[in-house]
Amino acid sequence: MVECNGSTTLCAVIGNPITHTLSPCMHNAAYAATGLNYMYVAFATTDLQAAVAGMKGLRIRGFSVTIPHKIEIMRYLDEVAPLAQRIGAVNTVTNDNGILHGTNTDGYGALHALEALESLCGKSVVILGAGGAARAIAFTIAHERNLRRLVLVGRNPDKVDSLVRDLSRDSGTPIVSTTFARDALREAFAEADIIINTTPVGMTPNIAETPAPGDFFSERHLVFDTIYNPAKTRLLLEAERRAARILNGVPMFVYQGAVQFRLWTGLEPPILEMRSAVERALGTS
Ligand code: NAP
Repeated sequence: MVECNGSTTLCAVIGNPITHTLSPCMHNAAYAATGLNYMYVAFATTDLQAAVAGMKGLRIRGFSVTIPHKIEIMRYLDEVAPLAQRIGAVNTVTNDNGILHGTNTDGYGALHALEALESLCGKSVVILGAGGAARAIAFTIAHERNLRRLVLVGRNPDKVDSLVRDLSRDSGTPIVSTTFARDALREAFAEADIIINTTPVGMTPNIAETPAPGDFFSERHLVFDTIYNPAKTRLLLEAERRAARILNGVPMFVYQGAVQFRLWTGLEPPILEMRSAVERALGTS
């Protein structure tokens, strides 16, 4: 249990519902490991404008922002980082003496998680899904790295094509769209080095589902599922069976929180303690 006193700096996550969030245990473990007089709590938030006013009024140092507020929060902030503007969503707010800055750390979380295993430079990447996590990851990796190719796989062609157009505007990477049809996936996977699932398909309780056929994976692939519950989705189990390297959503979650920790404290994040806290909470340590 984190102790607090009259000098404690407060940070929080806002969203609704919020009871299942892992952010408090992760951030409080980081504060304990670094000896900081900080505390992190969860606020179930329905009135976003009032919550933002409260952040200024109570001098709360940082907010993590989650569903359903990641888009609407942008209109209440003083500044939004260019990458978060392009993504179209903010998951992190930093209060610098009453000036509220919005950023998006989800894509950096994914980039750091992948690059703890291998560099993305020159790689061919396939992203399954075209929602919020896909946008954050696609804009960040296309902005930060020279990829060989980026393929976006979506079930709604208009949505995916519009994402490809937005992404192509400020990236030198060749970016194309395709569908979940079996032949389309076979072709996309045959050329891919890294495959990233950003759909919720396979998440607890629907663990028998998978967004892509297992027989298309091989030892050349690194397969990253952004889901962290279960720890090994059917997608990851099938990829592992075909000798692909696999990565679940825990490191992405930890690294996106680590970027927040650095923004709010100015210190280097204690990654190992943060990861252990998340895995303990998930019952996977
Ligand atoms: P979202 O905005 O709702 O996007 C979900 C995407 O998945 C949409 O493009 C949707 O298609 C697609 N999709 C849903 N069901 C599908 C199906 N049966 N077949 C094919 N495509 C399907 O959600 P999100 O915020 O991006 O989150 C998605 C996942 O990412 C969740 O599982 C979440 O746990 C994970 N995530 C993990 C982290 C982390 O730190 N590890 C962070 C953020 C999110 P349409 O576009 O057609 O609706």
